[in-house]
Amino acid sequence: IFDEFTIKSLIRPVADFPKPGVVFRDITPLFQSPRALRMMIDSFIQRYVESDFTHIGALDARGFLLGPILAYELNKPLILFRKKGKLPSDLLEETYQTEYGDAVIEVQADSLCEGDSILLVDDLIATGGTLLAAVNLVKRMGASVYETAAIVDLPELGGSHRLQDIGIPTFTLTAFS
Ligand code: 5GP
Repeated sequence: IFDEFTIKSLIRPVADFPKPGVVFRDITPLFQSPRALRMMIDSFIQRYVESDFTHIGALDARGFLLGPILAYELNKPLILFRKKGKLPSDLLEETYQTEYGDAVIEVQADSLCEGDSILLVDDLIATGGTLLAAVNLVKRMGASVYETAAIVDLPELGGSHRLQDIGIPTFTLTAFS
């Protein structure tokens, strides 16, 4: 049974990380609890087990903690969206702004085709900049985004609204305001 209180209690607020004034939501305790990990994965699986997207996309780096487990359980191909300089071969890139400054993500140019539909997975949605950049990469390959999924939403930073505004649904297990 999904218990949001347990999930919330295992997300640690860290003041002034990675810079002064920011409260970082540290999700590492969730992964140190087998019960919480199972609860999180089971929730995602329950939501997506009958869904008809074709691919799962995991966002560098903490999306990599979830994406492979979901891809394994749902038997879908896994696509990596990585920070600049990590992926070989022909790439597409998008520049975007985070809470902390400019960043670039890349994907291999042949990872999706027209008609493909992808579930994008990350640990947390803040401004939405990271997921919006990934959405642009998906669209540039002629594919579509089925939904974006994360453990945590920070609704006050506007990301989930921004995604919804361009027609991309979001699913998160919990939120902090
Ligand atoms: P956004 O692009 O939505 O502004 O920021 C989300 C991205 O930055 C995600 O990839 C996430 O891993 C990282 N991030 C930003 N703030 C936090 C935070 O407070 N906690 C965690 N765990 N990740 C964060």
